[in-house]
Amino acid sequence: MIRKFISRVLGRKPPGAHGEPAVLPVGKHGVRRDSISSGSRRTVETLQEHGYLAYVVGGAVRDLLAGFTPKDYDVATNATPEQVRHCFRRSRIIGRRFQIVHVLMGSETIEVTTFRGHHSEADKGGTKNASHHNSKAHTDAQGRVLRDNVFGNQMEDAARRDFTVNALYYDPVSETIIDYHHGVADIKQKTLRMIGDAPTRYREDPVRMLRAVRLSAKLGLTIDPATARPIREMSELIGNVPPSRLFDEMLKLLTSGYAVKCVAQLRAEGLHHGLLPLLDVILEQPLGERFVMLALESTDRRVRESKPISPGFLFATLLWHEVLAKWAAIQARGERGIPALFLAMDEVLEVQAEKLAITRRIAGDIKDIWALQPRFEQRSGKRPYGVLEQPRFKAGYDFLLLRAESGEIESEVSTWWTEFLDSNDEDRAAMLLPQQPGDAKKRRRRKRKPAGGDTHNPGAPE
Ligand code: ATP
Ligand code: MG
Repeated sequence: MIRKFISRVLGRKPPGAHGEPAVLPVGKHGVRRDSISSGSRRTVETLQEHGYLAYVVGGAVRDLLAGFTPKDYDVATNATPEQVRHCFRRSRIIGRRFQIVHVLMGSETIEVTTFRGHHSEADKGGTKNASHHNSKAHTDAQGRVLRDNVFGNQMEDAARRDFTVNALYYDPVSETIIDYHHGVADIKQKTLRMIGDAPTRYREDPVRMLRAVRLSAKLGLTIDPATARPIREMSELIGNVPPSRLFDEMLKLLTSGYAVKCVAQLRAEGLHHGLLPLLDVILEQPLGERFVMLALESTDRRVRESKPISPGFLFATLLWHEVLAKWAAIQARGERGIPALFLAMDEVLEVQAEKLAITRRIAGDIKDIWALQPRFEQRSGKRPYGVLEQPRFKAGYDFLLLRAESGEIESEVSTWWTEFLDSNDEDRAAMLLPQQPGDAKKRRRRKRKPAGGDTHNPGAPE
């Protein structure tokens, strides 16, 4: 209790004001220099040889301590982006707002970031060093930080990171970890703890609420009560986050390999309401929930087996039951089946776009997958062969399997397709269903491509 109190008080103070950070030798943390990637190690060594401070920082150190394999490496340094660039032949500065340097090492890209300052000090104008703070932080009416482009020293850099476990600096040369916020102890205790005052930090950047959920689910950490408590009442601030950032973060969450756990945790923290229309509606319909959970489980499996996953497929599954509901409603107004589906698809994607900027390419993939679904029903004549030739056929077929597995459709259709795929030409021909009355009429109306492919969706507005 007392320890908790003390650590909370200490946690809120700017560290280093009264004490130096802990410098932990390898015996205290166990991270050997050969456990980091050779590219990140060489990047740090090169910067140090040029006389700069440089460390592996952030997610990679955290993941190694927690027993996970890092997915990429970030390096923090006191060298400016220009200075970093001069140390490496294969490097380029990216970003305008806050410049970082991509250093290319073999097939690796190491992201090198100059230490950032704490914006609130800059706001107060408390600059000790004129060249140090090159701009002030600005916030919106809710306190969200709009600009965060201030260089700082290492202590300030640590303080502006989100969680204690993300503010660890690993020096592969000495194999030490510099720990300003008791992050190593927190990892050992399996605690995810915000640096500083949690409500303030969420106000500065509401995405941190989603990061808390994702990191705790992925790493099996418990969110410290003071860090978890404000989330429920502050969740609506996520509405102020630019849609493109929200999309990036949602994608990270869904492709973390722990999507099922993340979504469960989002609900436990009260974050699914209002965050994403898709999670709102779907998780409350039994069929929808089953479908989404099956999709997320299979995504998690693929990620953990290092297989590629397609964001288009993922978002297509998340939004499908919305499309189904809209499709039915539009048809009830008297619109014909296929045009109604296309209207429903556009409406659903439009609603999403307000909160979540799904990129144009991904939106195209999503629509392709959806548009294939009614075409799987048509199993007579030449149509199934045309469906097979669609560029998104495999994704559409996997989607169909999930629909059957979730109980949305009879498995008869998906079984037919599985068999059709496995069959030779002769057996395929034998499988075709008799032509429906009306089929011939539709076929005559359809415009054919010169290649003769059955590539157009009858009735698709084009
Ligand atoms: P992962 O790469 O596994 O998604 P990560 O923690 O490395 O997790 P990045 O987005 O790569 O996430 O960020 C690198 C580091 O930058 C983090 O470890 C953290 O120290 C800091 N950081 C990232 N996002 C924020 C944020 N919203 N607020 C404060 N610090 C952040
Ligand atoms: Mg990272």
